[in-house]
Amino acid sequence: MISEALKMNNLGNQAVVNQLASLAHQSRLSGLNLSGSYIFSGPSAVGKKQTAMYWAQGLLCLSSRDGHPCLQCASCHQLAIGNHPNLVTLDREEDSKLVGIEPTRDFISHLNRSVDSDSYCFGLINEASLLNEASANALLKTLEEPSRRAIIVLLADNLEALPKTVVSRSQVFRLRPASSKVLSEYLLEKSFERSAIHEAVAISGGRPALALDWLNNDKLRQSQLARLDYLLQIADQPLSDRLSALDKLKYGADSESATETIDSWKIIARDWLLVSAQADDLVVYRRGLDSYNALVSRLGRQRILNFNRALVEADWQLKANVSPKAVLENLVINL
Ligand SMILES: [Zn+2]
Repeated sequence: MISEALKMNNLGNQAVVNQLASLAHQSRLSGLNLSGSYIFSGPSAVGKKQTAMYWAQGLLCLSSRDGHPCLQCASCHQLAIGNHPNLVTLDREEDSKLVGIEPTRDFISHLNRSVDSDSYCFGLINEASLLNEASANALLKTLEEPSRRAIIVLLADNLEALPKTVVSRSQVFRLRPASSKVLSEYLLEKSFERSAIHEAVAISGGRPALALDWLNNDKLRQSQLARLDYLLQIADQPLSDRLSALDKLKYGADSESATETIDSWKIIARDWLLVSAQADDLVVYRRGLDSYNALVSRLGRQRILNFNRALVEADWQLKANVSPKAVLENLVINL
């Protein structure tokens, strides 16, 4: 039985999931060796980790069908709870900003040690853009001479934030958000109201898990709405007030809160573009509509376009470890 989480994750990524299953199937049939490095890139919450784990399940399943896992056997269960002898993961340590060399060395030696059978050993790197220089170099050596039956999957929100040397030695799979149509149909099946779905699909940027959170979690929805309200309010204030507002509310206190702030701003900035194109009916944040017209005519279309571009750039800067506070201040100054 296909789990709900899996069905949801596959909404935008069915082609990639099928391609990976086909690789697993070919490997089983022909003995083709898949050892080496793979990068799954795509926006946060798009299902990169679930897709990687599904592939690992397909590769290690005791009774897979055409490379797809049965999701019933002991191996599939062990992988589902993240506790399989042939699975090794690399994360950043709790108190550290980057993935340091020590855990990276442990990861590599575990990967090499485990590869003593015909089964694959699956190494998962959760935030590959956070590898520090020494870690990336250590990893590179492993990628250049992959052990037999060792597969490394690096997950990254932004391909550009990875060292070019790592990217060039890897096969890249890009994961995408679901289309509005596909996601809306999925949510309609779940009996949510049409108007709420429109808002959830737009605010989640087509990422099913975020859309469901928005619809199911009232507290989260309220806090996101409050942030949208506030950002919209400060857009019209003098620069000094805008800067102190960021500080006061700690919107850029860390990279996670800065990302949330930028995501909220993207919704507003896209709405401004829609209003400037007189497409008010497509506006997502309906509560902002009243104040949009005055702001849009004050800022002008060119500045709004520039701000939209600056938001994309800000995402990139955060992934490249520029200080979150500096990234947000730069945005506010250029608004
Ligand atoms: Zn299985």
